[in-house]
Amino acid sequence: MSDSANLPEEAVTANMAEVKNKIARAARDAGRGAGDISLVAVSKMHDLARIRPALEAGHRQFGENRVQEAQAKWPELRAAYEDIELHLIGPLQTNKVKLAVGLFDVIQSLDRPKLAKALAREFDRSGARPDCFIQINTGAEPQKAGVAPGEADEFIARCREDYGLPIAGLMCIPPFDEEPSLHFALLAKIARRNGLAALSMGMSADYESAIALGASHIRVGTAIFGQRPSPAKPV
Ligand SMILES: *Cc1c(COP(=O)(O)O)cnc(C)c1O
Repeated sequence: MSDSANLPEEAVTANMAEVKNKIARAARDAGRGAGDISLVAVSKMHDLARIRPALEAGHRQFGENRVQEAQAKWPELRAAYEDIELHLIGPLQTNKVKLAVGLFDVIQSLDRPKLAKALAREFDRSGARPDCFIQINTGAEPQKAGVAPGEADEFIARCREDYGLPIAGLMCIPPFDEEPSLHFALLAKIARRNGLAALSMGMSADYESAIALGASHIRVGTAIFGQRPSPAKPV
């Protein structure tokens, strides 16, 4: 029996199907196509036994928030399954840029000039060009990563013009204790005025409202994989 979490591994398949149904319903209610919304299954802190059922069910987009954890898990899964698209959704230190660019297909957590510069240099060196999302700190929380909303336009322009980065869109993580839809609407507004198509917003608790407000990517962990094991436990 897995000690990875309190949910049987078979439940992952059923949860995945349920989340996909809810996405389809939320998309229909918003007059959108379900195919316009990418479900990034957030597998952080879950082991391979829990991730494999999602892959077996045909799912291919996953998110991890730590570079070293992704490095420990995903090369083996990539060797076994084709067309995996791996998204980095957590903070990226510049000393891990090279490793991250080798591992991830999409980097959702571009949040500062120093990182933009390091990514540009590594893209040039390696020839890899993962799509980038700029993380916006929509709640202006001091402890949270992301560009302040008031500095977003300038930072987006700098990433595009000075660094030539492939900026696909914006990402946000709303404050825990606030109505997320206000933050989703703010993110959508910043994206619109900067001509950015992709919006990564919405997690297990609020992805349906994110879809209503235009999310192109939702990042769902708990609703698919169950509760994450505590970090102290050996995996
Ligand atoms: C963990 C995480 C998620 C998934 O959260 P759930 O509530 O488990 O769906 C989404 N986005 C980011 C950035 C995360 O770190």
